[in-house]
Amino acid sequence: MSDNKTQHIGVVGAGVIGICCALNLQRAGFKVTLYDENGLAQGCSKGNAGHFATEQVFPLAHPALLKKLPAMLFNPLGPLRIDWRYIIKALPWFWHFGKNMQSKIYKANTSALKALNQEALSAYENLLNEFNLGHLLTKKGSLLTFETTPLTQINSLYNSFKEQGVAVELLNSEQLRILEPNLTTAISYALLFKDVAHSVDPHLFCLNLAEQFSALGGQFCQQKITSIVQTDKDFTLASKTHNFTADKVVIAAGAWSKSLLTPLGYKIPLDTERGYHCMVTSNYGLSRPVASAERSFIMTPMSQGLRIAGTVEFAGLERKMNAKRALALLPNAKAMLNDTTVDLKPNSVWMGCRPSLPDSLPVIGEAPSHSNLFLAFGHQHLGLTQGAITAELITSLCLKQPTKIDLTPYCISRFSTQAACSSHIPLAQ
Ligand SMILES: Cc1cc2nc3c(=O)[nH]c(=O)nc-3n(C[C@H](O)[C@H](O)[C@H](O)COP(=O)(O)OP(=O)(O)OC[C@H]3O[C@@H](n4cnc5c(N)ncnc54)[C@H](O)[C@@H]3O)c2cc1C
Repeated sequence: MSDNKTQHIGVVGAGVIGICCALNLQRAGFKVTLYDENGLAQGCSKGNAGHFATEQVFPLAHPALLKKLPAMLFNPLGPLRIDWRYIIKALPWFWHFGKNMQSKIYKANTSALKALNQEALSAYENLLNEFNLGHLLTKKGSLLTFETTPLTQINSLYNSFKEQGVAVELLNSEQLRILEPNLTTAISYALLFKDVAHSVDPHLFCLNLAEQFSALGGQFCQQKITSIVQTDKDFTLASKTHNFTADKVVIAAGAWSKSLLTPLGYKIPLDTERGYHCMVTSNYGLSRPVASAERSFIMTPMSQGLRIAGTVEFAGLERKMNAKRALALLPNAKAMLNDTTVDLKPNSVWMGCRPSLPDSLPVIGEAPSHSNLFLAFGHQHLGLTQGAITAELITSLCLKQPTKIDLTPYCISRFSTQAACSSHIPLAQ
């Protein structure tokens, strides 16, 4: 520990991943500075659906998606949209996405996703309980509902979750309404996931963690890091106006991580799946996250009302949000509630840039050609879920200790012919 106190770590990016890493590293005894150009949790971590979705162990790249794709793409406000001006830029991502549909790769990616998700909640509990913040996790399970899907298909999905060790229960319409009386009777079945949680305010969740980071002596610096250069003895992190030094660096800049890594020689098909939310002022009596299998969206009861979230849009990091996509979620939410007279008035709309890699896995590890440069980005639809476990893994690497999980599947070199990451020996269970 005393050694760590003399070591300075710069964490670039103050989303949920960067904040969890900074807090856990500071707690381990390092001197940490957290950099973000926009303040704390102003990126994708600000407006997500607040679901610690540990049940989501299946990667998105599955051949079944190909059948649904044409219908999705012809609906401009539907669950998936590719901006025609962005098609060429998105091609590398989709090329890798297609490759990841191969059954052997899909199985390996499922195992790697599951390995992270299985540890996700206990990692948060370790972190939050230390600061008496356990109440930030609401544990009432979550629901995946079905209106028209045949029971045979639901059963097969249920069995797939069971096979992966996910704690799940199949509910019929009556059983569902005991849990959520305000959902429509048009919902015929639901899967209840039990080992999950939700946050009633994901932005405040991040701010609470950042507050603990400051209380432990961690520094926040509002600067955009424009380059990272490794010298013989340390790193220089440059902004437009300053040069900062650090012994170790963690890149946790979400969907923007690529621009810091390209000059260092790392090629990655990182892109953004832009997602939207729309807030309405009432929770409509819901007490847990409710997703719809057919409508591809989720509603989470939060302290400021109901958050209706979802959709995937490929349009890059620069283009402005399309508020129509957020508002298009409202009729879906309305159709899911039993009070047909309810008038869902939007309070606010939001768009966030999910940092996504085509195999649905994040990059977590030490950069193969730069010792003491650590990578923690690309958590796609599961960044909130995987924040604390990512922080635990990065902390073990910085402490040069064995990691809880074998990090080979998350190594950055999986997309290139670059040298592989140094092997990480998992702890004996
Ligand atoms: C609609 C929607 C719903 C979602 N729902 C869920 C959910 O229910 N559960 C779940 O687990 N996940 C969910 N997600 C995904 C989740 O929000 C993301 O995976 C997560 O927020 C990513 O966190 P991050 O810290 O990697 O990135 P971000 O939160 O985007 O943070 C990256 C930060 O880096 C900063 N940055 C970038 N470049 C630089 C630089 N050069 N210098 C300094 N700072 C820089 C940015 O300003 C930003 O603040 C959802 C996402 C969306 C869009």
